[in-house]
Amino acid sequence: MSETIKCGSCGMLLYFGEEIKRRLYMRAIPDESAVLADYGNKCPRCGAALSTDSVKIEIKRRATHES
Ligand SMILES: [Zn+2]
Repeated sequence: MSETIKCGSCGMLLYFGEEIKRRLYMRAIPDESAVLADYGNKCPRCGAALSTDSVKIEIKRRATHES
């Protein structure tokens, strides 16, 4: 499974990668809010405040190829 996080206002891609719940297991990323904190909880493109409620989080099956 892969996970995508986009700004709820402008659609800017904020995170794409392994599902964060699984990364949690790998201790790579604590959770979605940590990803948003990396951006200062603010969209770098439109300046909208980012929260786990305002962003679009999509979890998808793994694509057929990686990279
Ligand atoms: Zn934005």
